[in-house]
Amino acid sequence: MATATETTIAQKLEALMKLQNIDSALDNIKKVRGDLPEEVRDLEDEIAGLETRLAKFQSEVENFNTQINNYRNSKKDSEKLIAKYKEQQMNVRNNREFDAVSKEIELQGLEMEIADKRIKEIDIKVLNKNDEIGGVESNLFERNKDLELKKKELEVIIAESEEDEQKLLKDREKALKATEERLLKSYTKLRDNARNGLAVVMVSRGACGGCFSSVPPQRQTDIKDKKKIIVCEHCGRILAGVTDPQPGEVKEKKTRATKVSAAAAAAATAE
Ligand SMILES: [Zn+2]
Repeated sequence: MATATETTIAQKLEALMKLQNIDSALDNIKKVRGDLPEEVRDLEDEIAGLETRLAKFQSEVENFNTQINNYRNSKKDSEKLIAKYKEQQMNVRNNREFDAVSKEIELQGLEMEIADKRIKEIDIKVLNKNDEIGGVESNLFERNKDLELKKKELEVIIAESEEDEQKLLKDREKALKATEERLLKSYTKLRDNARNGLAVVMVSRGACGGCFSSVPPQRQTDIKDKKKIIVCEHCGRILAGVTDPQPGEVKEKKTRATKVSAAAAAAATAE
């Protein structure tokens, strides 16, 4: 039977490890959600941009059509004027008057030709713009389809993880109660500073599970004894235990550790 102190340290480490596992699971849930909402927002932004462009193009076409109508109306005016001038020509009193009216008719004819030319030019612009509108519309159709899918995906993921999240949060409450305040403070600080969110790790294959620096065999033995809380010398993470390695690996690690210390000793002597 272990002494009371030993049991306490072991329990503290167990509680910390449990808390770490819960927090890592919560981190994963956030990570999965973190991507999708962003993708949905990006798509919504893109669609809004396409809709703005579509509206702009459509108003340009409207504008072109107004211009075409204006030219058609001015052509009708010219036709009326020409008819009026032709009537006047019947009643002229001399050649000078006849020539003057002929000039007016000629002028209105020119106006009509110019109007026809402009109408043709604008018709081409309308055709091109309608092509662009078609492109934007098919793009919009595709993006909307993507958005629909992503939104559904997100809904499913949120629905799926919501249950897990609730359970984890409940478990977390329990784990927090089982954790000493002082340890919780260092745990929180370590987690805030660690990019992978790991504050409590196991020693695995002779290395710290957080930063993968090797942990000397004697230290591993101390960690296994659980008489005190031991942190990684390199990253400061709490080492909660040692996962049982294969017998071959222990030998290999030992050899390497010995070589490293031998090299360090040689270097110290050289200096
Ligand atoms: Zn470490």
